[in-house]
Amino acid sequence: MRIFRTIDEYKRFLAELPASRTVGFVPTMGYLHAGHLSLVERAKRENDVVVMSVFVNPLQFGPNEDFERYPRDEARDLALMESAGVDAAFLPGVRDMYPNGAVKTTVRVAGVTERLCGASRPGHFDGVATVVSKLFHIVEPTRAYFGLKDAQQVAVIETMVADLNMNVTVVPCPTLREPDGLAMSSRNVYLTPEQRERATVLYASLQAIDGWRRANPDVTAAELEAKLAEAIRRTPGAELDYAQVMTYPALEPIEGPVRRAGRFIAALAVKFGGTRLIDNRLFEGEDTAT
Ligand code: AMP
Repeated sequence: MRIFRTIDEYKRFLAELPASRTVGFVPTMGYLHAGHLSLVERAKRENDVVVMSVFVNPLQFGPNEDFERYPRDEARDLALMESAGVDAAFLPGVRDMYPNGAVKTTVRVAGVTERLCGASRPGHFDGVATVVSKLFHIVEPTRAYFGLKDAQQVAVIETMVADLNMNVTVVPCPTLREPDGLAMSSRNVYLTPEQRERATVLYASLQAIDGWRRANPDVTAAELEAKLAEAIRRTPGAELDYAQVMTYPALEPIEGPVRRAGRFIAALAVKFGGTRLIDNRLFEGEDTAT
């Protein structure tokens, strides 16, 4: 595995590759887990070369968020990348990505960024779209792999790529979970053993939604949201940030029964102490074009 710490070094490597090669790209913030590695596996199957980046992007953290304490372990990440068969590890420093401090150019995607995490974390998706745009220009991927655990992020990136005619195929990938259903996340290490046990409520309540909607064919988004919120309220130590049911990927409100909505998402953000967890489930309504 080759390791690159600057944009120039990576660009030299890219220039040496045959012109016909395909490049699969997996951008991450590190502290890798099996969810990240499942994206590498898919990228390896579909491309000649796999590039993984680790960059904790200051631009996508709010002033009172966890940028400073975000978990980092470069040696462990490199070992995992190597054993997963990554060809090139790209680990730029903040100064290489943002040489003049803050950027003067920001990529802002309207619409899909306004709800869910966009409403709770102002500016977050501007930071995400800007850094992913920069990484696409640097890495020059054929395909880029993103987890549906961050389904709103997938919608934002897909919108950006389409609107700006970026020459990359976005590949959404399924969420990997712990055996008890908790979505794998670098932030799970923040949880105390008690919070970790209670955090299963996110997946359990999203699963329960499926039963409720099957038992009640005319169920509305508001009714499903209320059921989700109730499950979180009943969980000691859990504080609801949002429980929302919307169309996907447009993320618009659903009028009337959800079954008429086509593809839709049930999305949750829940805080346990200072740790904010998100999860979601996608559903196909009866009108979904396949
Ligand atoms: P992060 O390092 O958290 O920014 O995540 C980097 C990429 O890995 C993003 O595309 C995430 O959606 C994806 N990812 C994170 N957790 C999971 C998971 N549990 N399953 C699948 N993909 C994931």
